[in-house]
Amino acid sequence: MRVGPSQDEIRRQNLGALLRYVHVHGATTRAELTTALGLNRSTIGALTADLAAAGLVTEGAPKETGRAGRPSLVVRPESDRVFAYAYSIEVDRLRAARVGLGGAVLDRRELDRPRGLTAAEAAPLLAGAVKEMRQAMPEDAVCVGAGVAVCGMVRRDDGLVRLGPTTGWVDEPIGTALGTELGVDVPVTVGNVADVAAFAEHARGAAAGCDNVIYLYGDVGVGAGIIAAGRRLTGHGGYSGEVGHMVVVRDGARCECGNRGCWETEIGEHGLLRAAGRSDARGREAMLAVFDAADRGDAQAQIAVRQAGDWLGFGVANLVNIFNPEMVIFGGTMRDLYLAAAAQVRSRLNSNGLPACLEHVRLRTPKLGEDAPLVGAAELAFDRLLADPLDVN
Ligand SMILES: [Zn+2]
Repeated sequence: MRVGPSQDEIRRQNLGALLRYVHVHGATTRAELTTALGLNRSTIGALTADLAAAGLVTEGAPKETGRAGRPSLVVRPESDRVFAYAYSIEVDRLRAARVGLGGAVLDRRELDRPRGLTAAEAAPLLAGAVKEMRQAMPEDAVCVGAGVAVCGMVRRDDGLVRLGPTTGWVDEPIGTALGTELGVDVPVTVGNVADVAAFAEHARGAAAGCDNVIYLYGDVGVGAGIIAAGRRLTGHGGYSGEVGHMVVVRDGARCECGNRGCWETEIGEHGLLRAAGRSDARGREAMLAVFDAADRGDAQAQIAVRQAGDWLGFGVANLVNIFNPEMVIFGGTMRDLYLAAAAQVRSRLNSNGLPACLEHVRLRTPKLGEDAPLVGAAELAFDRLLADPLDVN
């Protein structure tokens, strides 16, 4: 008969909690850990010793405080040595990074991605970037896993990319392809880019401390990462958050998902460029050129930006009414659109949002900026380490 967790299970949970704390908060005194984790000083000392022996933290004197008395030792994550590989697969670019325990990007590479590139073609390009980073990293560096942010619908159980309307991917096993190419014996975890970026902003960015958050991420299409009651909302299979495919216009413009009138046909790349009379252009630079032209007084660009901003506010009002978030974050191209058309977004949100849902909602841009998908991908990998720190090493 089980009566409760064993001593060993409790110890592992406590090791995970301590390592997670310094991973998120950085260097922390033993005294602060004692208070934050609700454990006594000798337990904190023993846990720290175990993590230090495993090479996951170091312990040392704090920087000079000028205060009298014996200072409390400071526990630091081994940020330069322990790391995860992070990948971001976007419509027009591929990114790879090494992210240290503690969340700092230690090294990074970026490659242009021709539209139409398959997973089998993308994997060796990313592996090449990793080879370059390996040559530059310290000899004693330890990789604890890899995470991938990909624009597409990702099956939660195994990371299969079921559908990427803007990349043309259908049932692509990108995690397996990357694992094979890398030749490293570490798990590769795959997540949707908006979910992963939301995870990062919630862990250590603009939404730290917020329990109900919508992170709206635009590339060519638009998706949302949703944090509800402090947890990532994934849906049954992992596919929730496809807000770009909310149908908002009956018989509207054709969407890359095959439907008509999806929200992203109005606020995404194609919608903005179509409204600006630049249907032949494509890419983020082309979108930025429209915002720039609007700034300089180009009448058609101004109309396009106002329309797209109005549509952005329309959809955000619906999301705010459904999810009652305390924060909406605009990332990727949605950041650019929000900054260019904030007045339209707020005006539409204020007229369509329910007053009770609008009471505490804040609109923000990502604190981690363009790094959110990479940092979040690394968090997917670190999650396994933090669940059981001594099992991974
Ligand atoms: Zn669609």
